[in-house]
Order: sequence, then structure tokens, then C-alpha cells
Amino acid sequence: MARVVEKFGGTSVAGPDRIRIVADHVARRRNHGDEVVLVVSAMGSETDELLRMASDVAADPPGRELDMLITGGERKACALMAMALSDLGVPAASFTGSQAGFRTDASHTAAKIVEITPRRVVEAVERGLVPVVGGSQGVSGDGDVTFFGRGGSDTTAVALAHVLDADYCEIYTDVPGVFSADPRIVAEARRMDLVSFDELLEMTASGCPKPAMRAVELARTYGVELHVRSAFSWMPGTTVTGEEAMEHAIISAVTHDGSEAKMTVSGVADKPGVAGRLFRALADSDVNVDMIVQNVSSQGVTDISFTVPRLQLDAARSVAQGLIDELGADNVAADDDIARVSLIGAGMQTNPGVAARMFETLASAGINIEMISTSAIRISCVIRAGDMEPAVGALHQSFELHKDPAERATGY
Ligand code: ASP
Ligand code: MG
Repeated sequence: MARVVEKFGGTSVAGPDRIRIVADHVARRRNHGDEVVLVVSAMGSETDELLRMASDVAADPPGRELDMLITGGERKACALMAMALSDLGVPAASFTGSQAGFRTDASHTAAKIVEITPRRVVEAVERGLVPVVGGSQGVSGDGDVTFFGRGGSDTTAVALAHVLDADYCEIYTDVPGVFSADPRIVAEARRMDLVSFDELLEMTASGCPKPAMRAVELARTYGVELHVRSAFSWMPGTTVTGEEAMEHAIISAVTHDGSEAKMTVSGVADKPGVAGRLFRALADSDVNVDMIVQNVSSQGVTDISFTVPRLQLDAARSVAQGLIDELGADNVAADDDIARVSLIGAGMQTNPGVAARMFETLASAGINIEMISTSAIRISCVIRAGDMEPAVGALHQSFELHKDPAERATGY
């Protein structure tokens, strides 16, 4: 017998048929003797629709009211799920985030969990019910309903798995797990049986869309084992744990991100304080800077390049332009035609040839590298946007990610 928290995303519970299919799965699971706690997202694209309605009635809707509105999506889904379960003879009870004991701070639309007192959820489990908790929501110290932000239901599920001391947390979605590359770009992309928290965090930070990064961080902090699975095929998916990948892959995945842009501030004085001034001003304007490269200076001047989310490019450009005189810069250039490709793998730490092979692979494909950044287990290259898909394909091929890890080259 296992105690499991199962989270179902929007597409998994998109309509009455889907809700009944999930309820049927839960009923079988219970017949095997497992204790199941459910977390549900809003049905289908309801969160988007609610946000659109909010912007139709107000130019700048207050956060408190947005949270009240959006969390209604999960509330509806959890009530319907509890009804579908009861209909199959499985006793169930729905709970809002507040009822489930999620106390948060008051930062509306991006609330952080402060404390969880899951008394009612525990009681429900003890009485043999299936608790169905609305995801991504809680209540502030003032008693206002709060929303954790987009993708927050994964966070609800991981946090519940931790406080309920569940054996593991299953994240059900519309894909069968975590892949070695986006299967829409690389047909031979391989579903990973196993990936470490660290690798998955690097993957989500460099373009892999699911599961939500915040939830993976929480899972790593509390050691909650995650299973990423499909609610359509119900096949075993990808297990995410803190253990060293048993598969011994040098490289686990190649990710891509086409949502960033590059800025270059050229001809700035090479003296203390220049970078501090520029990046403080960007931070004060809430611009989220990612890769940063400063050239070796020549004759006392240098260039600084960095990437920002494309949506923040205009803000970043005006901050940098406003500092041209103060920094003594020659020019500020913005380029939104870039993409980033990254190789992720815990094994690269002990494999000195990985970077060389990555650059050689891109070179053989005629792809120019414009910026490079690394962490212990990731190498990222900024390239032309049009080169992104060929780069992902070439890297996937070169590092043999389509093969079982045991059959790949053992060094580069
Ligand atoms: N329904 C919310 C969203 O779409 C929360 C979630 O699904 O995790 O972002
Ligand atoms: Mg959703």
C-alpha cells in the first residue's frame, strides 16, 4: 500500500469525459489498496479564459480580485472531480486551498506558501475519503484568497506530498514524461526513465516547459520523489529523484528556448562599478537578466552582452539607453532574432570533452555561436533563432540521446 498525491493538469480534466476517466483511474488505484490524495488544475484553458475576461472588464484588475476569480477554476474542477468519484462509489470530498490548510503571504497572483496545516485533508484520508484539493491556491493572513501563479498546482501537489509524508507525488499531464528533447522538434526524442532533480531544474530553467520549476525546487528541497506521467496513456513515465542517475548518462537532454532576446552595450569604460550600475538599473526595472558576457577589454573599453526575456526587451533597451552617457557607452543594440540551445547532463562534470563536442557539432552544422554560458551540469549557446531546430537535432544526434544510455559513447 502506498500513499500517493496525484496532480492532474488542465488537459487531463478538460471536460466531463476526462473527469470521469480520471475518477475511474482513482477508483482502480484505491482497489489496489493505495491511499490517494488528488490535486486538480482548472479545466482545459479555463485559467486563460478567466484572465481574458478580467482584462475585458478592467485595464488593470486588482490582484485580490484576480485571485478570487482565477482560483474559481480549480474550485470548479475539484468539486466536479469529487462528484465523479462519488458517482463511482468512491467517497470523496473537495477542498479549496484554504480548507486544505494552505496559508500564504499576501502577494496576490504570486503567493508563496507560509505554512500548511492539512488537518482536514488528513481527517478525510483517515475516514477513507479521497480528498480533492484545488491547486495553486491558499489564504493569506488577512483571510483573502490567494493564487500561487501559473503552473502553481504542481507546487500544491509537491507541498502536500511532503506534509502528508506521501511515498511519492505523481504529476499527470498530456505528455508521457520528460524527454531528451522536445519531441515536436526531434522525432527520435526519448522518454527518460529517470532524471535527477538537478538535471530537471536545469532543463526547466533552459526551456523545458513541464513540470513547473518552482515545484521541482520544492521537491528537491524536501526530497519528494516525482513521477511525471500521462493521464492519456497511463504508462509509467519519468521518475525524478535526488539520487545520482542510475542510467549513467553523460548527457541527459538538449533543451531550447526561443523566448529570449540579446542586448549589447558596447564601448563602455572597463572600470569598477560599470556592470554594477547597469545591472542594478535593470533589476530595479524588474528586468530578468539571464546570460551575461563581458568581452576582454581593449584600450580600456569593453562590450557587455546579456539576454532578457523577449517580452522585456523594450524595458531593457530603455534602461540601457538611459545610461549611455553615464556609462560612456558607444551604442546599445537589441537583437530579438536569437535562440538558446543547452546540453544538460550530470556526467559532463567528469567528462572534459563535452563542450568541445558540442561546439564541433554546431560548427559542422554551419551554426555560429554568439554567446556561451555554463553551469556544473549545463552548457548553453546563443545562436540565430533560425538555427535553433537544426541545432537541437544535430546535438541530439551527436550525443546519441536517441539510444539507451547504456549504449551511448562513454567519453568525448
Ligand atoms: N490553472 C493554473 C494555470 O493554468 C494553475 C495550474 O494549472 O497549475 O496556471
Ligand atoms: Mg493549467
